[in-house]
Amino acid sequence: MCDPSRLKIGVHVSISGAIDLSVDRAVDAGCNTFQIFTRNPRGWKFSEISEEVRRSFLRKVKSSQICPVVDHMPYLPNLASPSEEIFKKSLFTLKAELYRCDQLEIPYLVTHLGSHMSSGEDNGRRRVVQALNSALEQGNRCMILLENTAGQKNSLGTRFEDICDLIDRTDYPDRVGVCLDTCHAFAAGYDVRSEIGAVLDELDSSIGIARLMVIHMNDSVGDLGSHLDRHEHIGLGKIGEDGFRHMLSDRRVTERPLIMETPVDERRDDKGNIKKLRELAGVA
Ligand code: MN
Ligand code: MN
Ligand code: ZN
Repeated sequence: MCDPSRLKIGVHVSISGAIDLSVDRAVDAGCNTFQIFTRNPRGWKFSEISEEVRRSFLRKVKSSQICPVVDHMPYLPNLASPSEEIFKKSLFTLKAELYRCDQLEIPYLVTHLGSHMSSGEDNGRRRVVQALNSALEQGNRCMILLENTAGQKNSLGTRFEDICDLIDRTDYPDRVGVCLDTCHAFAAGYDVRSEIGAVLDELDSSIGIARLMVIHMNDSVGDLGSHLDRHEHIGLGKIGEDGFRHMLSDRRVTERPLIMETPVDERRDDKGNIKKLRELAGVA
């Protein structure tokens, strides 16, 4: 288990070349927690993890004292899809990803809840519950974390009570947690900028704060309630430095792994965002 008293800050890291190289990149950027895709996120195909890479990854994670590593589902799967074919492929991907997490001793797999593609929320929800039950039936150690969304058309998981309802309907509620994305929450209308306490109280009274395992710390290009899913560098978006300082004053935030999915451009890189978040947390 990860030391809960230690502030855990990291970014999404590339696995380019080989999965174990992500650990070197994370260390180099100054992470003590990080997120990866275990494979190309833009396709359906993937290859198995070799024993050599698996061992190297585990060795590096151990010696770096990074904790936890988090996996994110690829982009194409849609667990709420009304298409039988897409649903099947999505479920296959989810199962494979859980297996890969166990191989790499990754405790959390973050997934979006998908889009019902105008088939209706009830149909979408039914699909998601079916997918979660079928995947969790495998008995993997890795926990699935449902990520809140910005509220784009037809997407599921925008409101905390919707996420709560899905977890309640699964057969394995203990194997399902939540990943809170600050950009998505803000875009969905949750004012994490000036009301983080109230937002987390609301999360607690529906989902339960104990289910919150990871926070994606992203600033937002869009304003409160804009439903725009566009991430910005920490402090340079509509949440702003004061908003992040405010969030980082709540222990329910600082006790959790804080992972950024921020851009890399001429304004700032990953190291820069890590430095900024540490500075705003008062531990620079
Ligand atoms: Mn995500
Ligand atoms: Mn996210
Ligand atoms: Zn996003």
